[in-house]
Amino acid sequence: MDNAEKAVRYAREHSADFVSDLKDLARIPSVSFPGFDRKNVESSAEAVAALLKKSGLENVEILSLPGAHPYVYGDWLHAAGAPTILLYAHHDVQPPGREELWRSPPFEPTERGGRLYGRGTADDKAGAVVHASAVASCLETLGRLPVNVKIIIEGEEEIGSLHLEEFLRRFRSKLSADVMILTDTGNFDVGVPSVTTALRGMASLDVTVRTADHPLHSGMWGGPLPDPVQALAKMIASVTDAKGDIVVPGILSRVRKPSAAERKSLKALRYSEAKFREQSGILRRTRILGKGGEILERIWYRPSFSVNAIQASSRKDCANIVNEAAWCHMGVRLAGGMNPQDVLKRLKAHLLKRAPWGASVQFSNETASPAWNTDPEGPAFVAAAEALEKGYGHPAAFIGCGGSIPFVGPFAAALGGAPALLIGVEDPYTNPHSENESLHLGDFSNAIVSAIYLYEALSRAPLKK
Ligand SMILES: [Zn+2]
Repeated sequence: MDNAEKAVRYAREHSADFVSDLKDLARIPSVSFPGFDRKNVESSAEAVAALLKKSGLENVEILSLPGAHPYVYGDWLHAAGAPTILLYAHHDVQPPGREELWRSPPFEPTERGGRLYGRGTADDKAGAVVHASAVASCLETLGRLPVNVKIIIEGEEEIGSLHLEEFLRRFRSKLSADVMILTDTGNFDVGVPSVTTALRGMASLDVTVRTADHPLHSGMWGGPLPDPVQALAKMIASVTDAKGDIVVPGILSRVRKPSAAERKSLKALRYSEAKFREQSGILRRTRILGKGGEILERIWYRPSFSVNAIQASSRKDCANIVNEAAWCHMGVRLAGGMNPQDVLKRLKAHLLKRAPWGASVQFSNETASPAWNTDPEGPAFVAAAEALEKGYGHPAAFIGCGGSIPFVGPFAAALGGAPALLIGVEDPYTNPHSENESLHLGDFSNAIVSAIYLYEALSRAPLKK
């Protein structure tokens, strides 16, 4: 039995222990959003640090920057002459959402039907545990790793990696590596391992529309008094056309067309409308915008607009009034080629132009990060395809992702253009960022095994410059 097989056997035999490590992390409500207790993110960083130490990683430390949620670092650097790989995941999580919609409590990880339910079980505490477990399996059975490993587990990914630039400036030399592996994305389907080669970017903002300084009786004042809710609704409605495509002038002019390789993958994946219906849970009579392969193209390679939350009064306080203000948070998922600042500028100008009745419009809370893509060529991608196929017993797919990870672009650039392998454990049923988030436990085990094969394959790959 060769070395990798020994470690793989250990990983398969200990998969229940690794699930238990994951449950321990997922019990900590490490929500990084403002308004949630920061101490939970700190406890989560400590628990991650303890797990990395237990796995045999060395020099484990919590890296702090003023005002930032803590990052955790660890390494193992005794494979002289072999490449150095940098592993990335994040330990902060999204808020739980509406507690009453969870079938089991969000921070009590619960197994049902071969999946582990709970906030962060997939996004992205699974990412941290996959690598800790793969490292532990190698060190326990072989006493060594085939490559040098550095691992960084971030604490503020879900709020847009706000201190990333500063972090990279401060710790760049510590992070230097020949290839980076980010475990925070999804597989094309359960049992279909995938390498993500394109991410959308994001431009988002709060919009507040005001027409008065206090709410007024809708009978005594309604008619001449403009309703800010209607004003905001008209503004929102003007952003897209009947097909759901963005019509803000100039916003689509720089969208990158899918490359030949991307087109080939889109075709090979044979995605269907039926699959989209099944995976998304869209209502039976609700129309899908796009057909077949075009659906994936819309998600991965074109921009989309959504209104994430909207508020004026509330169900509880609903009364016969005209509100004084209406608020919403909206975002554009950006395709390759789009400049996030330019998109924000054009979107704001468009909304201002469409604001009726001289209503006051204020913008705040803006975020902007570009899309990212890579050409899946070279030895790192060959190694990844080989390792994933061995770990899952299914050929790897090369896919795009409609989500955004602002970290990837700047990080790859800081590492001098080192290849970035985005390999995750989520799947279309994971429901990240929503209620009843879950992880497929079979694929979790396959992901750990693939990681072991990947370290081995990268040790043989001609990566060093
Ligand atoms: Zn994530």
